Amino acid sequence: MDIDVSALPSPCYIVDERLLLRNLEILHSVQQRTGCSILLALKGFSMYSLFPLIGKYLKGVTASSLFEARLGHEEMGKEVHIYAPAYVEEDFEGILAHCDHITFNSFTQWQKFKHRVNGQSKKISCGLRINPEYSEIETPIYNPCYQYSRLGVTLANFRPEELEGIEGLHFHTLCEQNSDTLERTVKVVDQKFGQYIKTMKWLNLGGGHHITRPDYDLETLVQTIQFLQDKYGVAVYLEPGEAVALNTGYLVASVLDIVDNGMEIAILDTSAACHMPDVLEMPYRPNIIAAGKPGEYPYTYRLGGPTCLAGDVIGDYSFKKPLKIGERLVFCDMAHYTMVKNNMFNGVNLPSIACFKAEQGIKVIRKFGYEDFKTRLS
Ligand SMILES: *Cc1c(COP(=O)(O)O)cnc(C)c1O
Repeated sequence: MDIDVSALPSPCYIVDERLLLRNLEILHSVQQRTGCSILLALKGFSMYSLFPLIGKYLKGVTASSLFEARLGHEEMGKEVHIYAPAYVEEDFEGILAHCDHITFNSFTQWQKFKHRVNGQSKKISCGLRINPEYSEIETPIYNPCYQYSRLGVTLANFRPEELEGIEGLHFHTLCEQNSDTLERTVKVVDQKFGQYIKTMKWLNLGGGHHITRPDYDLETLVQTIQFLQDKYGVAVYLEPGEAVALNTGYLVASVLDIVDNGMEIAILDTSAACHMPDVLEMPYRPNIIAAGKPGEYPYTYRLGGPTCLAGDVIGDYSFKKPLKIGERLVFCDMAHYTMVKNNMFNGVNLPSIACFKAEQGIKVIRKFGYEDFKTRLS
């Protein structure tokens, strides 16, 4: 990393616009080669100060809720798609106002809201989420096809007689996967739901495509999209979250104290539980610049957060020199599924948010404080 982080507040997320641009170019090349449309899944990355830039490359956003839809509509102003396992009655007016594509999770939901969509003066295209009952995700909490999944209609529950007005089908069964997984999934979708895809205008292949990862096989993705377009004449949508922001940002943190209890433990001003919840939920071990696996370099530490949660531990890392109080550490790949998921458990403040642009360098966009903590409580 070539950004001088010493002047940043701590802790602070920093997104490097140059790296985001690199991802956007790759995603755009897929659109250009295939004519498909790529949407940013806001649940993974909602840094709206960058929406104008993202909107130059992608076709719009996909939302999981009214709030995300509104943010995408107001801050990017391009296509706004939405999908949720069930819509809240009181939200639906707002959803109609902000969205142009609405995907329903069941025929019951479609029947419930259908007349309200039809009563709109603007054109809103409706879709249904299907569950192809095929997924290669091994972690159950991330597998939408796991036993008794509530996500999407299975073939056995499909009601062809209620499809009138439905223009699209949607499936989302991938997570951080390459295009070989997509290819195998599309085979199953084609076999099970092909007769219905025939009558559709669009097909949404969901998210979880790790398109911007260095080893991602773009050729297979392009061929799979072209196969669907040629066979069914449908418009194809992809809605990655992670792939848009993958490897574009960092979390800069500082060492507050060092204690010893059988091993050396550094207490940081950032928390796994509050600022990088996927470290505990996924779980995974984020990389730190200039640090190695335990024992790889001479000085090994366990890195923990400032909350009272015993398990607020980021992991064990080794360093070439002993850590010092006040020293800064830079966690890698911290742009996606961090800012959108963080919380103020224990009253721990949120990291500031900064952006690095080639022309103007670092700009701190947002700092948080007591008011942000208090306004979520009563
Ligand atoms: C989570 C999700 C996405 C985005 O997934 P990524 O893994 O971030 O690419 C897209 N669509 C749906 C329906 C989702 O649930």
